[in-house]
Amino acid sequence: MVKINNSKIREKKYDPFIEATLQYERAAKTLDLEPWIYNRLKFPEKELTVHMTITLDNGEVETYTGYRVQHSTLRGPGKGGIRYSPDASLSECKALAAWMTWKCAVLDLPLGGAKGAVICNPPDMSESELEKLTKEYTYAIKEIIGPQKDIPAPDVWTNAQTMAWICDAYSRYIGHFEPAVVTGKPLEIGGSQGRSGATGLGMYYSLLETSKHLEYPLEGKRVGIIGYGNVGSSIARLLYDYGCKIIAITDIYGGIFNKNGIKIPELDNYVVKTKSVKGFNKYHSITNEELLEINCDILLPCAIEGMIHSKNASKIKAKIICEGANGPTTTEADEILGDKHVFMIPDILANAGGVTVSYLEWVQDVQRLFYAEDEVKNRCWQMMQRAFWDVVRISDQYKTNMRNAAYILAVKRVANSVRMFGKIGRN
Ligand code: NAD
Repeated sequence: MVKINNSKIREKKYDPFIEATLQYERAAKTLDLEPWIYNRLKFPEKELTVHMTITLDNGEVETYTGYRVQHSTLRGPGKGGIRYSPDASLSECKALAAWMTWKCAVLDLPLGGAKGAVICNPPDMSESELEKLTKEYTYAIKEIIGPQKDIPAPDVWTNAQTMAWICDAYSRYIGHFEPAVVTGKPLEIGGSQGRSGATGLGMYYSLLETSKHLEYPLEGKRVGIIGYGNVGSSIARLLYDYGCKIIAITDIYGGIFNKNGIKIPELDNYVVKTKSVKGFNKYHSITNEELLEINCDILLPCAIEGMIHSKNASKIKAKIICEGANGPTTTEADEILGDKHVFMIPDILANAGGVTVSYLEWVQDVQRLFYAEDEVKNRCWQMMQRAFWDVVRISDQYKTNMRNAAYILAVKRVANSVRMFGKIGRN
């Protein structure tokens, strides 16, 4: 029997692209952008929808839908992850692609913004089904990706192995090995030292700079984390080693709370076996909503977008929010948190360590010249530090919060490029 899972192709009530557009519009208004530039940057350059049919291990045939969106390739090749999720949608990809444009511009990287997704549920799929689907997806988007066009990377439920499969399928298509087509690859095939924990490392650097800026020592501070995957677990380890107290963590299956602090190295061993934090050490269990309301100093949303919204923002007690996830806070929630004087390190700054080290991986692949881990970390630190203080300066200059400041900085940089290229001949 032919089974097509396109019942899952739906837009959620929460529309991430509307959120992304509202953030962009606020900055565009502050900068008084010319209408032709404003419109050009409001919409993605390209949106591709593809369908992949594969034979499952049980012999049944399944068709999956995927997307690749390029928001802007003006300042360099598109850059952005590929997400596997049953809830993926075109609107989500459009938002994530736009956020990538602004993130790369905040860091002043010579890259644009893109994002991809496949609607599927990896925990229900075997390794060989995931490999088939990934290679079919690569084949479906092969004309629009490439080292000088658009360079994918891992995101939710994709990892270094997924990138290796993409690299293989793309290399076969063009007829030679091309590692620079994706970042976040295994070291054996051109990956960079330091890439796997880079997003958490970038968050850590931005928290260290925030600590200096606010004169707020991080030692002993209580931390809550939503999402314990690549991003959530890497920042947890760094803050634990620094001397913070990680008191609550949730993931998609459940959550744990211990007011005296969770032992992160032991938790990591447990998660390797169980794939979830749920049930660790018989700690008190906790939901996402409960985590948002606990008495903590620093909140780290590291799961998916839209989790902090108008109905729960007023209950948040944290003094600092550092956004590991892309778009975890809606614009309404952002205003509520601003009124409560929560210091927000916005996603397009806070989680930019990942794309920064991805940029360094791409540079290394293109040159076939590889850096030691210390060099990668050092460069990442310098770039994150520069971006942090650039945003603080704009925030002081425009008397606005860190999110608006990051958008003003990013939109100004990209708009300047559009202006230099001129009105005629593109789009
Ligand atoms: P991941 O798949 O490794 O981990 C995601 C985590 O979030 C898992 O622990 C999962 O259980 C949890 N989660 C998912 N839905 C949840 C829900 N409804 N409630 C609670 N927990 C939930 O993904 P990741 O790579 O860590 O990415 C997490 C976020 O960080 C995403 O928004 C992604 O776009 C963003 N991000 C990732 C990178 C990167 O380098 N991987 C870079 C920048 C931003």
